[in-house]
Amino acid sequence: YRIKITAVTDTLDIKITKTSQSKLAETELTDLPFGKVFTDHMFVADYINGEWKNFEVLPYGPIPMSPAISALHYGQAIFEGMKAYRLPDGSISVFRADKNFARFNKSATRMAMTNIPEEVFMKGIAALINLDRDWAPSAANNSLYIRPTLFAMDAVLGVKASADYKFVVLTTPAGPYYNKPLRVKIETHYTRGADGGVGAAKTAGNYAMSMLPTQQAQAEGYDQLIWTDAKEHKYVEESGTANLMFVMDNKIVTPEVRETILDGVTRDTVLEVAKSLGYGIEERRVSVEEVLEKIASGVLTEAFAVGTAATITQIAEIGFEGTIHTLNDPANRPVSAAIAKKVNDIRYGLVPDEFGWNW
Ligand code: PMP
Repeated sequence: YRIKITAVTDTLDIKITKTSQSKLAETELTDLPFGKVFTDHMFVADYINGEWKNFEVLPYGPIPMSPAISALHYGQAIFEGMKAYRLPDGSISVFRADKNFARFNKSATRMAMTNIPEEVFMKGIAALINLDRDWAPSAANNSLYIRPTLFAMDAVLGVKASADYKFVVLTTPAGPYYNKPLRVKIETHYTRGADGGVGAAKTAGNYAMSMLPTQQAQAEGYDQLIWTDAKEHKYVEESGTANLMFVMDNKIVTPEVRETILDGVTRDTVLEVAKSLGYGIEERRVSVEEVLEKIASGVLTEAFAVGTAATITQIAEIGFEGTIHTLNDPANRPVSAAIAKKVNDIRYGLVPDEFGWNW
């Protein structure tokens, strides 16, 4: 059957094909490992000859494509990550999707890819979640993770921006990404983002290049990396797939957003909530030296990573050039605990949505 989702400006005509083999009954939805189990359906759309078309929700499964597509060879591929939460009345709310939509097109522009109309992005996601709504977990700290992706479809080996693209949205029930405070290593050789580079884009290559340094850190007993600036390895930037925050003198201190850093939605959420709770905010460059000095002097009382998948994850230990610096007990971090509580209460609809973030 087909559905039409109508908004003020436009209607999107979406073809819906329901699966005849739902996996829902045999799936335990609570605390699943991240990103391994997909819901029954996916949303797909094509950008062909300069036009968006073929809007379709269909059973999750393989997509036919040429082995020559430019996404595979030259990496014109971007994605987003956002979450939907089940509210107390049973309805499902997508958190700050407008921010993810804006960042998606920002990433697309940086990778010389077509932008996607808001209608296609939002209504595709709405139609998919609507059909797979029973997959949204209701257990505490669980949610439905939404993964929109756009990739280049031209089957041409010449290195140039593709003309045609495919947009796909997958959804996966998600439990907590990390289940313990982290031991992180300050990386002083490898680089994630350079001035003039693509650090601010959520593009596949940024994640590919992070894997070897992360594996090496894990072999040394760390959970994750803290990336530093490419020029001098002197300033901390972000951690794994999350932004970094510190509490110093009861203020939230976080690396300022620059073209080397992903402008995180959770980062913005945490800063807004922190302000609403009366905490001061400093967005500025933060040097490795400052972090280590202020841990030693007791001025730096909390450190944590913030991201959609990671939510708010405490950092217990920071390694730098082979020395481990131990922070305050992660179980006793009043500032991030207060912020995390309010962020989660808003996401799960337990307090009024004073910021208008739930859709
Ligand atoms: N930095 C990087 C490199 C990331 O991949 C992510 C996850 N999207 C973040 C930060 C956090 O961003 P957000 O809060 O929007 O998920």
